[in-house]
Amino acid sequence: MRYLLPILLSCLVASCSTTSFSSRESSGGVSLALDHWGHRPGPHGFQTVIIDAGHGGRDSGAVSRHTGDYEKHLALDTAKRLADKLRGQFRTVFIRTGDSFVDLDDRVALASRQGGAILVSLHYNSSPSSQVRGPETYYWRVDSHGLATRIQRGLESVIPARSGNLGLRRRRLRLTRNPQIPCVLVEFGYLSNAGEARLCAAPGHRDRLASVVATAIRTQAQLGDAGTGPKPPPLNQPLSRPTDPPGS
Ligand SMILES: [Zn+2]
Repeated sequence: MRYLLPILLSCLVASCSTTSFSSRESSGGVSLALDHWGHRPGPHGFQTVIIDAGHGGRDSGAVSRHTGDYEKHLALDTAKRLADKLRGQFRTVFIRTGDSFVDLDDRVALASRQGGAILVSLHYNSSPSSQVRGPETYYWRVDSHGLATRIQRGLESVIPARSGNLGLRRRRLRLTRNPQIPCVLVEFGYLSNAGEARLCAAPGHRDRLASVVATAIRTQAQLGDAGTGPKPPPLNQPLSRPTDPPGS
């Protein structure tokens, strides 16, 4: 929690359209209240999008040996592009607006202050294998499946090649399991793959990535889960902790 106050202040003084942190409830018959488990339909009618640019400050995330790009910088750039595309239709809240370190639990705490909101966490990936490439979208909660499906479909429509792509994945991560609102973590592409790293280095490509995420958010807000296939079963597993073994 020690990082929370600076986060709130940086958000309030930044260019985001944040006006308050009061919770909002319900729209169109789908509850948007805070919910511990998320065993419910995906939201529609939400008005607030929390945008989490992964990593930051002393946590660089992945660093591409092909382009020299840092994940933390690409993620923030894409986050700002996404906010631009949502402006006028949604209230957007940034977890970070500059190159600052924010603990994962503090990101979760900030998101869970917001009723009537969704969270998207933006990342670029890395693998020991230089062959692996392609976008991946992670979710855990039942109420996040529809949005994750829409985002992954959108990404696959603009990313030309797929090899070893894990696609849509249900995984218990701190930013997919722990927030009390619908939440999705996006990995836009592998900085460890030469071709994809060069693609991700191009501002126009990052703009297209932001566009398809914005479209997925708008469609989810309009239609809820319609057209996203069967919902996954509810899973009751504990909060994700930093001490959990990898892959658990
Ligand atoms: Zn990351």
